Amino acid sequence: MTDRKRIPVAVLGATGSVGQRFVELLLGHPWFELRAVAASDRSAGRAYREAARWLQAAPLSPEIGGLPVRPCEPGAVGDCPLVFSALDSSVAGEVEKAFAAAGRVVVSNSKNHRMDPDVPLVVPEVNPDHVELVRAQPGPGAILTNPNCSTIGLVLALKPLADAFGIESVNVVTMQALSGAGIPGVPSLSALDNVIPFIAGEEEKIENETRKILGRLDGARIAPADVTVSAACNRVSVIDGHLECVSVKLRKKASAGDLESAWRDFSAEPQARKLPSAPAAPIVFLREDDAPQPRLHRDLGGGMAASVGRLRPCPLLDWKFVTLSHNTIRGAAGGSLLLAELAVARGLLK
Ligand code: NAP
Repeated sequence: MTDRKRIPVAVLGATGSVGQRFVELLLGHPWFELRAVAASDRSAGRAYREAARWLQAAPLSPEIGGLPVRPCEPGAVGDCPLVFSALDSSVAGEVEKAFAAAGRVVVSNSKNHRMDPDVPLVVPEVNPDHVELVRAQPGPGAILTNPNCSTIGLVLALKPLADAFGIESVNVVTMQALSGAGIPGVPSLSALDNVIPFIAGEEEKIENETRKILGRLDGARIAPADVTVSAACNRVSVIDGHLECVSVKLRKKASAGDLESAWRDFSAEPQARKLPSAPAAPIVFLREDDAPQPRLHRDLGGGMAASVGRLRPCPLLDWKFVTLSHNTIRGAAGGSLLLAELAVARGLLK
């Protein structure tokens, strides 16, 4: 796709933690051109640079900083056929439906429509064929969803094992970054010197979404995978990057070398199609005793690779390991861009 044919896109919830990542990652994107930013009535009408408390390391481009923030209405964002949603879940459900009804293709990060039977819930390396489910939607637009940020890292690590050996059950304990709680996020007196062993709704999301993603497309529905998943979620004092301790029971016996090879050899449709946001290797296997770590490894593959390490036998299930992924890049904005690229490459978005 040449620069001339870039698809105009809008970002809903552009002022938030995920919205800012979209703005950052869309700068210079070869297929998509950011034309409109939208947020709540608190921000609408102001210049983006004034409405957003810019927290990204890269400076905000003057061009985007000068864009007026629009209200989240289809008529307010021009004729962008593709819309990325980083809206708070209190409003995302209805707003996204209104955009789809107005003929827009919405790629959402919010929980609201993820488990709807006709809505694809996709990690492009894991279940790319599930995007075809949009054809079951009434139209004229469509909604596609990006999973919960912890689920994304987990299913990326599980997929090569599911393909090679089958998975019977999974136990996962997460240590999730503060940026996952949005802006302004967790108050400093709650976060510092502390671990909070509760994130509302998160454990249910990981358990249910994993079964849908690892499930099978069966006509106009997804048959969920027959996998038992148990999740325990914790908020820790890290800025970006969700670390997850995983134990897994496989359906077929496998050695440590078999698991390592499955991860090292893993490559999927985004890599074969050379999609712009696809990392060369979706999984990076690390041999060091103390890896992966959020500060050292969250930016591998431009924040789009999941790292896996600390593989060892599990006395309860078969194997245990640690996986890490960047929650606002692979787990949100970067993952959504990759999903939209997949939809374009498969001809679902003209
Ligand atoms: P956030 O920082 O709180 O941002 C929320 C955005 O929604 C802001 O742009 C806000 O605009 C907008 N908004 C709030 N109320 C609104 C309303 N009534 N009408 C229109 N816009 C409204 O949250 P976030 O962390 O970026 O998360 C955004 C979504 O992505 C959530 O659904 C979250 O669960 C999901 N998610 C987050 C992560 C992560 O790591 N942070 C990862 C995966 C998925 P104003 O600035 O104008 O209030």
